[in-house]
Amino acid sequence: MVERLYYNDSFLSKFRAHVTDVRELSRTAGQSLWQLALDRSAFYPTSGGQPFDRGTLLAEARSGATLEIPVLDVQEEESGEVWHFTEKPLAAGTAIEASIDWPRRLDHMQQHSGQHLLSAVFAKEIGAMTVSFHLGEESSTVDLVTDAVTAATLERIEKKVNELIAEGRRISTTTVTREEAEALLAAGRLHKLPERIGSMRLIAIENYDLNACGGTHLHSTGQIGGMLLRSLEKVRQGVRVEFVCGQRAVAAARRDWTTLVKMAAPLSIGPAELPQAMERFQAEAKSSQKERQKLREELAEYHASRLVVEDTIREGLRLVKRVFADRDAAYCKLLASRVCAAAPQTVALIASTHIDPATVVLASSQGMPFSCGDLLRQSLAKIGLRGGGSADMAQGQVAREQLDSLLDDVAVAVRVAKTAATA
Ligand SMILES: [Zn+2]
Repeated sequence: MVERLYYNDSFLSKFRAHVTDVRELSRTAGQSLWQLALDRSAFYPTSGGQPFDRGTLLAEARSGATLEIPVLDVQEEESGEVWHFTEKPLAAGTAIEASIDWPRRLDHMQQHSGQHLLSAVFAKEIGAMTVSFHLGEESSTVDLVTDAVTAATLERIEKKVNELIAEGRRISTTTVTREEAEALLAAGRLHKLPERIGSMRLIAIENYDLNACGGTHLHSTGQIGGMLLRSLEKVRQGVRVEFVCGQRAVAAARRDWTTLVKMAAPLSIGPAELPQAMERFQAEAKSSQKERQKLREELAEYHASRLVVEDTIREGLRLVKRVFADRDAAYCKLLASRVCAAAPQTVALIASTHIDPATVVLASSQGMPFSCGDLLRQSLAKIGLRGGGSADMAQGQVAREQLDSLLDDVAVAVRVAKTAATA
């Protein structure tokens, strides 16, 4: 069985080992994926919430050339064996020189030690216990059992965490028996124990926290390098807090700053003035919207009074039929209702070709002996379309190439219905 070198030295990034087993995992599109087992390894396999390490294996080929084989994934089996995923096989017995992708491992250790510290601070400061956590590629989260965390509390927790980071408290690893661990649990020094029997590994943050964990950790809280708490989200069992540590925290703050500067620059203000500026813009947008609606209504009123003069009453009916390419559907609807309010015995048949499909509005002034909804619905149905509305206002949509014939059909239907009622 593999000797896990990271248990005793989480800062070991290079090691020598021998291949003990090899198996082909899959073959797709001429590309094979292999799994190699080693007699000793510092590669961390995905487990306990911490993602796997990447890196390379160097081996001497039969030709004498050096093979450099990337390690793409590392997973452990229930049996305890650790498998290193590669695109090339190496025979059992081959000597290798391995190196871990160090920036990636250090980043994982910063997030993982950071998670222990954050969970401990939440427990001590507000009694919020961590039920689960996730260490992600971009950011990480802890799920807390608590009703709510206010923004002020979050800020206080973040400050406390960063104070403990600045203090550079020692982080150490010990192995205890199950009985010793249970005694620590009974004494309240440990919050929970894994179900596993046998000895277990404990990670201690000097005079602050003790936690059963198989992950890789830093030597000091100082190496976490700083922590930034970000989003708060309500989840089923409580509250989820997003956090980033080390370079991730710096990168997140840098991204935020760049975004704020980009937003503030065209306004010739500083990023700190953005909230006030946004409030002002929202208020201005709201009042502009109100003003615009008022002007549209006034325009529709004038427009309607002109249209009813242009079309005269013929056989007891004034039919105002128009198509507008530069007016939207809402304006056409407004205009149709104003036309019908402006004069009696009037029907407005107005279309907007502002966007395709066109919108057709049919409206009538009070007391007309037919229903606009019925007439428009029937005309649309003839070409397989749907639409309709009330007796004095109806609406439908039609493709532009069918618009002219639909308008003609509706106009005829309106005349026929009016004549039939009069006869
Ligand atoms: Zn842990």
